[in-house]
Amino acid sequence: MASLDLHRQASNLGSPSWAKPVLLARITTHPDLPECAGCGRCCHLVVELRDGDWVPEPLVAEHYGARCMDQHGDGACVALDPVTRLCTIYDIRPLTCRVFTRGELLCRRILGRHPTPG
Ligand code: SF4
Ligand code: SF4
Repeated sequence: MASLDLHRQASNLGSPSWAKPVLLARITTHPDLPECAGCGRCCHLVVELRDGDWVPEPLVAEHYGARCMDQHGDGACVALDPVTRLCTIYDIRPLTCRVFTRGELLCRRILGRHPTPG
Protein backbone atom coordinates (compact mmCIF):
# COMPACT_ATOMS: atom_id res chain seq x y z
CA MET A 1 0.00 0.00 0.00
CA ALA A 2 2.98 2.21 -0.40
CA SER A 3 1.33 4.63 -2.78
CA LEU A 4 -1.66 5.06 -0.52
CA ASP A 5 0.08 4.90 2.80
CA LEU A 6 -1.39 7.34 5.27
CA HIS A 7 1.92 8.43 6.58
CA ARG A 8 5.53 8.03 5.75
CA GLN A 9 8.45 8.22 8.02
CA ALA A 10 10.55 11.32 8.23
CA SER A 11 13.27 12.01 10.72
CA ASN A 12 13.73 10.94 14.30
CA LEU A 13 12.79 13.46 17.00
CA GLY A 14 14.79 11.66 19.64
CA SER A 15 13.85 9.67 22.71
CA PRO A 16 12.04 7.49 23.46
CA SER A 17 13.13 5.10 20.76
CA TRP A 18 9.59 4.28 19.63
CA ALA A 19 8.65 7.91 19.23
CA LYS A 20 9.34 8.81 15.63
CA PRO A 21 7.64 11.59 13.72
CA VAL A 22 6.29 11.03 10.28
CA LEU A 23 5.27 13.26 7.44
CA LEU A 24 1.84 12.78 5.99
CA ALA A 25 2.14 11.47 2.49
CA ARG A 26 1.16 13.85 -0.26
CA ILE A 27 -0.98 11.40 -2.15
CA THR A 28 -2.18 12.52 -5.55
CA THR A 29 -3.94 9.37 -6.69
CA HIS A 30 -7.37 10.80 -5.81
CA PRO A 31 -7.79 13.88 -7.98
CA ASP A 32 -11.25 14.49 -6.54
CA LEU A 33 -9.76 14.87 -3.10
CA PRO A 34 -7.32 17.42 -1.78
CA GLU A 35 -3.90 16.11 -0.95
CA CYS A 36 -3.52 14.55 2.43
CA ALA A 37 -2.31 17.66 4.16
CA GLY A 38 -2.45 16.18 7.62
CA CYS A 39 -5.91 17.05 8.79
CA GLY A 40 -5.38 14.26 11.31
CA ARG A 41 -9.08 13.54 11.54
CA CYS A 42 -8.50 9.86 10.89
CA CYS A 43 -6.45 9.89 14.08
CA HIS A 44 -9.49 10.99 16.07
CA LEU A 45 -11.21 7.64 15.77
CA VAL A 46 -11.18 4.76 18.24
CA VAL A 47 -8.31 2.45 17.32
CA GLU A 48 -8.69 -0.97 18.84
CA LEU A 49 -5.50 -2.91 19.31
CA ARG A 50 -5.40 -6.33 17.69
CA ASP A 51 -3.33 -9.43 18.22
CA GLY A 52 0.23 -8.64 17.24
CA ASP A 53 -0.04 -4.93 17.95
CA TRP A 54 2.36 -3.54 20.49
CA VAL A 55 2.40 0.02 21.70
CA PRO A 56 3.74 1.38 24.99
CA GLU A 57 1.28 0.77 27.81
CA PRO A 58 0.98 4.46 28.74
CA LEU A 59 -0.64 4.99 25.34
CA VAL A 60 -3.24 2.25 25.87
CA ALA A 61 -6.68 2.57 27.43
CA GLU A 62 -9.52 0.15 27.91
CA HIS A 63 -12.59 1.10 25.92
CA TYR A 64 -15.72 -0.94 26.56
CA GLY A 65 -13.55 -3.89 27.52
CA ALA A 66 -11.22 -3.60 24.54
CA ARG A 67 -7.63 -2.41 24.53
CA CYS A 68 -7.43 0.71 22.42
CA MET A 69 -5.16 3.64 21.75
CA ASP A 70 -5.87 6.19 24.46
CA GLN A 71 -7.45 9.45 23.34
CA HIS A 72 -7.50 13.02 24.50
CA GLY A 73 -10.77 14.74 25.31
CA ASP A 74 -11.22 15.87 21.72
CA GLY A 75 -10.79 12.31 20.49
CA ALA A 76 -7.24 12.76 19.28
CA CYS A 77 -5.08 9.70 19.64
CA VAL A 78 -2.46 10.27 22.31
CA ALA A 79 0.20 9.28 19.79
CA LEU A 80 -0.79 12.12 17.48
CA ASP A 81 1.52 15.10 17.83
CA PRO A 82 -0.88 18.02 18.36
CA VAL A 83 1.42 20.50 16.67
CA THR A 84 2.78 18.62 13.69
CA ARG A 85 -0.28 16.34 13.31
CA LEU A 86 2.15 13.48 12.81
CA CYS A 87 2.07 10.00 14.27
CA THR A 88 4.78 9.72 16.89
CA ILE A 89 4.79 5.93 16.82
CA TYR A 90 4.73 5.42 13.09
CA ASP A 91 7.04 2.40 13.06
CA ILE A 92 4.90 0.54 15.57
CA ARG A 93 1.49 1.98 14.77
CA PRO A 94 -1.38 -0.48 15.17
CA LEU A 95 -2.53 -2.62 12.28
CA THR A 96 -5.75 -0.63 12.01
CA CYS A 97 -3.68 2.44 11.22
CA ARG A 98 -1.47 0.51 8.81
CA VAL A 99 -4.37 -0.65 6.68
CA PHE A 100 -6.25 2.64 6.68
CA THR A 101 -5.69 4.26 3.34
CA ARG A 102 -6.44 7.75 2.28
CA GLY A 103 -9.30 7.97 -0.15
CA GLU A 104 -11.16 4.99 1.20
CA LEU A 105 -14.78 5.47 2.18
CA LEU A 106 -14.06 6.38 5.77
CA CYS A 107 -11.55 9.02 4.74
CA ARG A 108 -14.03 10.41 2.21
CA ARG A 109 -16.72 10.55 4.85
CA ILE A 110 -14.35 12.38 7.15
CA LEU A 111 -13.55 14.83 4.38
CA GLY A 112 -17.19 15.12 3.39
CA ARG A 113 -16.41 13.78 -0.08
CA HIS A 114 -18.30 10.74 -1.16
CA PRO A 115 -17.30 8.47 -4.03
CA THR A 116 -18.68 9.46 -7.40
CA PRO A 117 -21.20 6.84 -8.62
CA GLY A 118 -20.05 4.75 -11.55
S1 SF4 B 1 -1.31 5.40 16.32
FE1 SF4 B 1 -0.58 7.00 14.95
S2 SF4 B 1 -1.64 6.62 12.97
FE2 SF4 B 1 -2.73 5.46 14.59
S3 SF4 B 1 -4.41 6.81 15.27
FE3 SF4 B 1 -2.65 7.15 16.65
S4 SF4 B 1 -1.52 8.89 15.74
FE4 SF4 B 1 -2.92 8.08 14.14
S1 SF4 C 1 -8.66 11.85 7.11
FE1 SF4 C 1 -7.82 11.41 5.08
S2 SF4 C 1 -7.02 13.41 4.37
FE2 SF4 C 1 -7.24 13.53 6.63
S3 SF4 C 1 -5.24 12.93 7.48
FE3 SF4 C 1 -6.55 11.10 7.39
S4 SF4 C 1 -6.01 10.14 5.43
FE4 SF4 C 1 -5.30 12.28 5.32
